[in-house]
Amino acid sequence: MARSLKNKELVNTRLAANYGGWMYCDQCKENIGYLCYSTYDHLELHYQCNCGSKGSADITFEDSKTGSECDDELITIKNRFCCPKDQEPLITILDKKVMSYEMKITCKDCGSIYKRVKVGE
Ligand SMILES: [Zn+2]
Ligand SMILES: [Zn+2]
Repeated sequence: MARSLKNKELVNTRLAANYGGWMYCDQCKENIGYLCYSTYDHLELHYQCNCGSKGSADITFEDSKTGSECDDELITIKNRFCCPKDQEPLITILDKKVMSYEMKITCKDCGSIYKRVKVGE
């Protein structure tokens, strides 16, 4: 079922579909990750691509819940960050393609907000 967007802000970033799919850096056209369509409620991502370009994505839906911050770490299943509570796949960030990133993603299923940071060298 299509979800209706409340807010979608992409900076120097392209998404393959309306609110999911492969994510590309607008400058070098490299894919930097993959966003799962139906399992997240809110995404806030800031990153610096290997090409030097800084990009971000901020997406929420009309029916997004507020969610609750949690300190648990996302688990990785086949390259994809998943919710540790219900194993829902949420997002892939291709680590080798980005120098650094800061991400907050809310699992739609359980409402947990996960944070993940990669600090540049
Ligand atoms: Zn780039
Ligand atoms: Zn969850």
